[in-house]
Amino acid sequence: MLNKQNIKRWYIKPALLVMFSIFSSNMLNSAPIVNEDQRLEKFKLVFLENYWKISPVEAIYVGYHRNDSLLVVPDLEFVDKQLRILEMLDDSLGKYNVSKLSANSRTDFMMMRDRIESFRWYLTEYREFEWNPAYYNVGGEFAEILNSRFTNLDERLRIISKRFNNVDRYYEAAISIIKNPVIEHTDLAILQNEGSLDVFGKQMEDSLNASTLSLNEKDAFRNGMSKTRESIIGYVSHLKSLRAKLNSDNSRSFRLGKELYTQKFKMDIRSRYEAEEIYHKALERKEELLTNMAVIARKLWPKYLPDAPMPDEDRAMIKAIVEQVSLKHVHRDSFITAIEKQIPELAAFVNNQNLLFLDPTKPLVVRKTPSYMEGSGAGASISSPGPYDLHGNTYYNVSPLTNYSEDQAESYLREYNHYMLQILNIHEAIPGHYAQLVYANQSPSLIKSILGNGAMIEGWAVYSERMMLEEGYGNNEPELWLMYYKWHLRSVCNTILDYSVHALDWPEKVAVKFLTDEAFQQPAEASGKWRRVKLTQVQLCSYFTGYSEIYDFREELKVKQGKDFDLKKFHEKFLSYGSAPVPYIRELMLEDLKLPK
Ligand code: ZN
Ligand code: ZN
Repeated sequence: MLNKQNIKRWYIKPALLVMFSIFSSNMLNSAPIVNEDQRLEKFKLVFLENYWKISPVEAIYVGYHRNDSLLVVPDLEFVDKQLRILEMLDDSLGKYNVSKLSANSRTDFMMMRDRIESFRWYLTEYREFEWNPAYYNVGGEFAEILNSRFTNLDERLRIISKRFNNVDRYYEAAISIIKNPVIEHTDLAILQNEGSLDVFGKQMEDSLNASTLSLNEKDAFRNGMSKTRESIIGYVSHLKSLRAKLNSDNSRSFRLGKELYTQKFKMDIRSRYEAEEIYHKALERKEELLTNMAVIARKLWPKYLPDAPMPDEDRAMIKAIVEQVSLKHVHRDSFITAIEKQIPELAAFVNNQNLLFLDPTKPLVVRKTPSYMEGSGAGASISSPGPYDLHGNTYYNVSPLTNYSEDQAESYLREYNHYMLQILNIHEAIPGHYAQLVYANQSPSLIKSILGNGAMIEGWAVYSERMMLEEGYGNNEPELWLMYYKWHLRSVCNTILDYSVHALDWPEKVAVKFLTDEAFQQPAEASGKWRRVKLTQVQLCSYFTGYSEIYDFREELKVKQGKDFDLKKFHEKFLSYGSAPVPYIRELMLEDLKLPK
């Protein structure tokens, strides 16, 4: 689970030591290797400076606020400029000798090369800016500038005031570029842009009143704010009239189709598996999970439902037992304390079983999710400071259930019941996301924190769930395994769903039936998932793909190393390469261990 606003932050690790990495001693030591690393180190800064020119909104979200006062107009001229900059970066990168780079630099090199390739692909092939009207929306970035504490309030308001200048041209460009929009993304754009009007209302007005800006400055600000509202309203009404003319026969489908989907999978995930291979793996894994769940549920039947007749059909039986086991949960008032209590227990297990070294000087702080980060209700997530924030802390944010009705709280607590809560903590904290972040920080790289690979990051968290249970966490309690399988089934089914809808044309009915029948999802969850699969592509696959690659690599290494294989060493070495794509880590690790590829 992660809050929506936190999704971007997931891929960002704290970078307390970034500045040191440039001069770190092992790079200054000896001959040619060192020089190539140093040369690349300089280039990385050039790369990023240029990268923020072609990806200005992303810059704001990672905390690089140097260009905030200029809102870039997203017209075709800008696309040309982006392509020129990519060309230039590509040429410069081509001058480095990969074989002379250290492992850490080599992954950075490959990640920059990949990003140039995928950025170019997005501009020339994918061209979302033509068919996704939700691509255009200034609300989020203005809110981010207003709420980030990178400088004092007055300065932030002055920056925002300047940024207002291009809003009208921004939306004019949007209107002229959009052609053949997707219905679902048009609806989303209307909804989200209307939502953005809130940004240019009370909160900004309150901030303005709290500031010490001069009367003239305040007037200019209010003027910009109201013009911005006008531009947004104009865009929304344009989209509404466009929308009235769209129907499923005359508009572009939200489905990517097999070819485009396969390409996007390659660009976003950087897996050694093709999209179709992962889809087949997921189908197999799903059958395995359902078989295992049936075995456990059958065994638990007399314990939970001694007087009820056992259904013949496996799914019905599993469902009934899952419901029973879910009844064991904490009280709504102790949700946060239960999580807090569990973190040291997980750490103790990892230490006692020798699974991974956990740095005792960096304990994880559990806190109530701050209100500015509250997303769509309750949840738990790790938030780490952006790569440019040198003083931030990493927290485990947990949302209390205070705003829930009795029924809502009960349903939420059944989902995150006694057993599931442990899986959640493994995933989010130890040895999942949090532990991975601590390791990533030991080989600090601005490139990896900014271009970090989502499939590796999520894959590690998903891998760690299975690994912990396999190593005996929870004493092999059948209830814990059952809940783990249910949780894991979700990421497996997300992969099947994503591929089937985008590449195999699954209609809504089939998709929803699949989720309720095969993944034990409630109708509300299933229809929410249907909505998500229409609006996103590939992202739903990242969890299972990353997990599969890590698990498969571990099994491969067990065979190749034989009795020399050591789980703790595997984990520590694997994590030492930072948040790079798994295939690159695999390659470097095999090389370092002098094993065949
Ligand atoms: Zn209850
Ligand atoms: Zn996660």
